[in-house]
Order: sequence, then structure tokens, then C-alpha cells
Amino acid sequence: MNRIRFGAGGNSQSFYKDNPKKSSLEACRWLFAKGLDAYEYECTRGVKISKEFAVKLGKEAKACDVALSLHAPYYINLAAINPEKQQASMNHLLKSLEAANWMGATKVVFHPGSGNPAEEGDTREKALERAKALFEKIIEQATQLELLEDVYLAPETMGKKNQLGNLDEVIALCKEHPGVAYPTIDWAHLYALGNGGLQKEEDFAIILEKIEQALGDETCQHLHCHFSPIEYTVGGEKRHRNLSDEIYGPDFSLLAKVLIKKNYTPTIICESASTQAEDAVAFKHMYRELKRQHLSDI
Ligand SMILES: [Zn+2]
Repeated sequence: MNRIRFGAGGNSQSFYKDNPKKSSLEACRWLFAKGLDAYEYECTRGVKISKEFAVKLGKEAKACDVALSLHAPYYINLAAINPEKQQASMNHLLKSLEAANWMGATKVVFHPGSGNPAEEGDTREKALERAKALFEKIIEQATQLELLEDVYLAPETMGKKNQLGNLDEVIALCKEHPGVAYPTIDWAHLYALGNGGLQKEEDFAIILEKIEQALGDETCQHLHCHFSPIEYTVGGEKRHRNLSDEIYGPDFSLLAKVLIKKNYTPTIICESASTQAEDAVAFKHMYRELKRQHLSDI
């Protein structure tokens, strides 16, 4: 049965203290012991993982019932104009998909546009058209290589105004590829992009309804999410924070209430700075407590 899952993006500082070998091979058991059941393996600085290591990681994850996803390198830019940069983005995604297949991860999360889409004389619309065309090419290639049989591509909503990848753009990229591409909703990024826009339950519900209308109820049911407190400026995202900095939003309990009412079972990957596992545990407890209250109210 599908259930909501909570996990960490990368390793907490405390993980390195508890595991002197500092090997991510120990991450799944460590997360499981904390009551977590998802792990996003980060290849954000390049896919350098060996097949042997990936297969071992996959076995560990399976043994602990920890769901794996893989975060692709930051350098991907689907809207790139330069053919060499387009090829580099394709290679990053194909390598990420290959590693995901080795480890049994079901999703490859990636940033659709690391560059500024409004390059000189360019418009956001043109950048999106270029991104769609390159995405289609990458999917064709990945399909030929049989890399998309058990893994899907999950473009993430970005946090800065000058990056390609706001909610509409991510939906547009996914819409043409049902079964192959589904969004990653980074709530911190949406919050930063709206300069703190997610202030009440309804603000979260509106976003989920938009995704539901564009991509179907199933997509919302199993949505891949990132969540963490974030600091922002007028341009959007500044840096990820954590729950010890009480002044930073968004408020997870607002999202949790909507998920409970709608009975959605997403995966929530916490990307808090340094304490991603601890904050994921805190989110899980918040969710559990709110669910108990909800059930006693009805
Ligand atoms: Zn990301």
C-alpha cells in the first residue's frame, strides 16, 4: 500500500558523527533507525558513483524499505542555446538515469534551468520552447537506452526568479510526457519565489489543485516533494535553513493539513541545511499529530 514517506536529501551532519566511515552505504540503515523511509542520493556535483557502490546502496535501501531517489547534477540547463551545453545536459541526465537504475531509485530529480532563461534578446517563452525540445530529445535517447522502464524524470520547481522552472514551466515540461516525467515540488522554492507567499493552508491547496488539474489526481497522490525552511530575497531563494532558525518558513503543518484532508501520500524529502534527517523526523511527527487530531475530529 502506498504511504506517505519522509526522508533526507543527502546526509545530516550528525550522520557523519555517527558513522566514522562516512560512507553513504550506511545512510539507509541510519535513516531507518530514525524512523525515516526515503533517501535522496545527491549527485549534485556530478555523477561519480560506481556501479558496484550503487548496487550495494540499492540492496541496503531495499533491506530497510527506504525509497531511493537521485538528485542529478546542478549543471543541467534544458534551455541552453549552445549545442555543447545541450549535449552536456543530456549526458548528465543519462548518467543520472543509469545510476538510478543501478541502485533501484525510481526518480531522477533535476533542475530544469540552471542558467538565466532571459539571456540577451531572449524571452522566457522561447527558453521554455527550447527546454521542451531538448527534454524530448533526452527522453527519446533514454528510452532507446531502456533507462526509463523503472525510473521517471522529475524536474524540480526552482527558487530564483531568473531560473527556468517555475510551477507553470515544470508542469509544461511534464505534461507532454505522461508516465515518464512528473514534477518535484520544492515547497521552499515556491515560497521563496513568491517572497513568502505560502502563508495559509489554502495557498498550498491551490498549488496541489493546479497540479491535479494539469497532470491528474494520481500525480498529486504520489508527488515527490522537497521541504525545508528557506531564506529569500526579492530575487527568490537565498539559502536553505533549518528548523532551529524559527523565523524561516514555509510552515510544514499547513501542507500536512492539506495532505491529510486530501488523503495524499507523497514523499517528503527534507533539504534543511545540516539537519535534514532531524527536520524530516520533526515533519513526520507534525504530520502524525495532525492526522491524529483530524481522525478524532471526524
Ligand atoms: Zn534540487
